[in-house]
Amino acid sequence: MSEAQIEPGLAGLFTTLNLTLGEEVHLFTTSLDIAVTRMRRQGMADEAIYQTLLRDAQTGGRIFGTFGNTVKRHIYGGIQDAGTIGKEAEFAAAGIAPGGEEKWTTYVTETGPCPDCLTRAGDVLTAEAWDAIGRPGSGWSVCKDACKCELNPVQLKTPDKVVA
Ligand SMILES: [Zn+2]
Repeated sequence: MSEAQIEPGLAGLFTTLNLTLGEEVHLFTTSLDIAVTRMRRQGMADEAIYQTLLRDAQTGGRIFGTFGNTVKRHIYGGIQDAGTIGKEAEFAAAGIAPGGEEKWTTYVTETGPCPDCLTRAGDVLTAEAWDAIGRPGSGWSVCKDACKCELNPVQLKTPDKVVA
């Protein structure tokens, strides 16, 4: 695999992640602004507003907690996407063309597999068919974007299930 194959994809991913995080920061500052405006309108003193916001930040409340979870989700998604870009470059180097048949490997944690993902263990479909019904982490399953299942080209002979 050459770096030249990966870099354009990663640059695009970085740009998208950068824009998305910028939007999230904007949403966060807007929600902070709205919260302060509402508390002032209700007659709260600045010290009480400060204490309320501090408590929200310390407990991961509605304003700061939501922001923190959103940033975590985007970064996790970015890492997954970077992995996908790297894998696709490896497949191309191994002469495996994109768009062929792919096999689902279900990821099993110590609490067991996601019930939705378990129904797909070992299933083989074309890339287009997987796109249509939902790839791992696309949100189709109970485990949503926490899904660690994988789709790989059938040529790789991957297992039906992987235990953590
Ligand atoms: Zn899964």
